[in-house]
Amino acid sequence: MGFERVVVAGGAGFIGTHLCRRLLDDGAQVVCVDNFATAPRSGIRSLLTRAGFTLVEGDICRPVDLDGPVDLVVNLASPASPHDYARLPVETLLTGSLGTHHLLNLAQRTSARFVLASTSEVYGDPLEHPQRESYRGNVNPVGPRSMYDEAKRFAEALTVAFAGRTGLSVGIARLFNCYGPGLRPDDGRAVPTFIWQALHGQPLTVAGDGSQTRSVCYVDDIVDGLIRLSASSHRGPVNLGATEEITIEELARRIRSVAGSAAPIRYVPRPAEDPSVRRPDLDLARSLLGWEPVTTLEEGLARTVDWFRALAEPPAVAVGGPEVDLRRTQPGEVVGGTV
Ligand code: UDP
Repeated sequence: MGFERVVVAGGAGFIGTHLCRRLLDDGAQVVCVDNFATAPRSGIRSLLTRAGFTLVEGDICRPVDLDGPVDLVVNLASPASPHDYARLPVETLLTGSLGTHHLLNLAQRTSARFVLASTSEVYGDPLEHPQRESYRGNVNPVGPRSMYDEAKRFAEALTVAFAGRTGLSVGIARLFNCYGPGLRPDDGRAVPTFIWQALHGQPLTVAGDGSQTRSVCYVDDIVDGLIRLSASSHRGPVNLGATEEITIEELARRIRSVAGSAAPIRYVPRPAEDPSVRRPDLDLARSLLGWEPVTTLEEGLARTVDWFRALAEPPAVAVGGPEVDLRRTQPGEVVGGTV
């Protein structure tokens, strides 16, 4: 797609790792910035030896000062599973606000395009279904998911305000549920949890009666949508997600079948303010980007289950981490080259 040097914030995370690999395959140099608050260190191990890849270990809540030209900055940095952001609430809010501002400044300084990975969570527990980009959402600003939802809503507002003031080229993608190889088995989300449970003969923990719905999109498709948005001049926001809507109980059953497991289903209490339905309207993605997902749920789950089978134990994850201390300078450890 013609990018020469791309900064991927959150590049060691689940979607970030796939995006970095795709950009390297397309011939770009990639600078991955990550603080490993929620990303397993194992995720990018295979990228560290690739030509053109640089890891900068650091927190985007500190100013991001990189030398050299950059033509694209993608902001994927944030805890993204409900389990993770509930555990890191202040960090999540600061990453979406301060962190996004620092990346916008970097993009402006380098005259790069800036692409924000936002989320379907900006729609909250939606009263419009499926969700179009024009829907303004149903979010509780002080609810149990507010640290993530409001961080992303603020990040969108900041991106639009910054572009209005500076003329920076920006794009906003609203990512719906995404899955694929590389998900942390312990990140608490439905797909990795069910796969791990199915493969280990543990009961699949379906929340509530399992009638709530999601549309789960295979990661390669999401990455393709992000690349298309990056290569365009569209601002969006534009939804990226799967067309097929499925109940969580049916998702558990499909995963169990793909994994060839006889594990039972166990119904567990549903988290407070868990959205009841979620499905993207993709008209805009189709018309603006010529994009829609191409991987079927069966194919995507089969690839993901295969990847999980090869994992002996859940990878060790840096849990918690210090609260972001704005007075403390974060020393940047650079691996794999200089920037
Ligand atoms: N869920 C579940 N069992 C689990 C994890 C999640 O039934 O072990 C449910 C969760 O309550 C929600 C849906 O699966 O209704 C999707 O949750 P996930 O955490 O994957 O993503 P979300 O869409 O909530 O961000």
